[in-house]
Amino acid sequence: LRMVSSEPQGNEQVSDEQLRPHSLEGFIGQPTLKAQLQLFLDAARKRDVPPDHILLAGPPGLGKTTLAMIVAQELGVPIRVTSGPAIQHAGDLASILSSLDTGEVLFIDEIHRLPRPAEELLYIAMEDFRVDVMVGKGPGASSIPLTLPRFTAIGATTREGMLPSPLRARFGFTAHLDFYPHEELERLIERSAKVLGVSLGSGSAEKLSMRSRGTPRIANRLLRRVRDWAVVHDLSEVTPGNVEDALELYQVDSAGLDRLDLAVLQAMVKRFDGGPVGLNNLSAMVGEEAETVETVCEPYLVREGFLARTPRGRVATEKAWHHLGVEPPDDVNKLF
Ligand code: ATP
Repeated sequence: LRMVSSEPQGNEQVSDEQLRPHSLEGFIGQPTLKAQLQLFLDAARKRDVPPDHILLAGPPGLGKTTLAMIVAQELGVPIRVTSGPAIQHAGDLASILSSLDTGEVLFIDEIHRLPRPAEELLYIAMEDFRVDVMVGKGPGASSIPLTLPRFTAIGATTREGMLPSPLRARFGFTAHLDFYPHEELERLIERSAKVLGVSLGSGSAEKLSMRSRGTPRIANRLLRRVRDWAVVHDLSEVTPGNVEDALELYQVDSAGLDRLDLAVLQAMVKRFDGGPVGLNNLSAMVGEEAETVETVCEPYLVREGFLARTPRGRVATEKAWHHLGVEPPDDVNKLF
């Protein structure tokens, strides 16, 4: 076991924490977003006030949680973490809000899933730094306004469009995270490999990056699987050929498509003759929720040119047919 430095008894969650960059400087890629965020934080620091609220939007696994933690770290303030689904009643949120310290960051993951009353409470809190606490029940009930310390809310969402506009309007800065280009993922993989003590030969990080679906979380996951392979095969260095063998075992597609991506393309091509097909039909066919297909799967397929959105529905492109090894009809490009 030459290539693997002894990782402290860790399970994968532990190593996930190790892989998280702790400063904006260590955050790889997304240069525009980083520059904007840097300026935003510098200005707040210079003015000595907690920065305005931040919304992070984009597909899963691109670093929203990581960025939220970095913001708190850069500001030197604590961070409180919760999520839309974890808050069942407005009262749950009221008690979190009323226990915040001045300047604290409140991170709300999947903020589009907050129940409506909590959402309303949140935007009053974000705007006026107060919550109205209900006292008593029935006709005698009254509400007492409670002043909150100034805090910074960071919301993360895979579905920005689902946020009601009054709430969206209360974020002073919105960052859109996009899939990472291969070169950025390559750097990320090289950095993670160092942390995990995996020695990658020339071309191996590149090969891994091509199959990581533009997503840091997937890149790190595949790297761990490649590490397992190297440990078991007693390799001192991982060659691109080793990467290929390991990923073949895990059935990672050559274009980085996962099971759901492939199911969607298969359904489009084989069941719907390439489309156009509506989101609901398509989701029913692959047995997934429409939201998952729309927010997890489609953005990547569209960006890689496998799927196009048209006013009449989703259409599989020529590239999709070829990727599945099916001859496209002659008029495939006339569909959209
Ligand atoms: P979700 O939206 O599902 O919560 P996320 O976008 O918050 O996902 P994170 O948990 O922040 O994703 O990131 C996933 C993993 O990828 C983390 O372990 C983190 O270490 C790593 N990572 C993400 N972005 C970067 C980056 N730009 N540079 C280095 N590592 C990153």
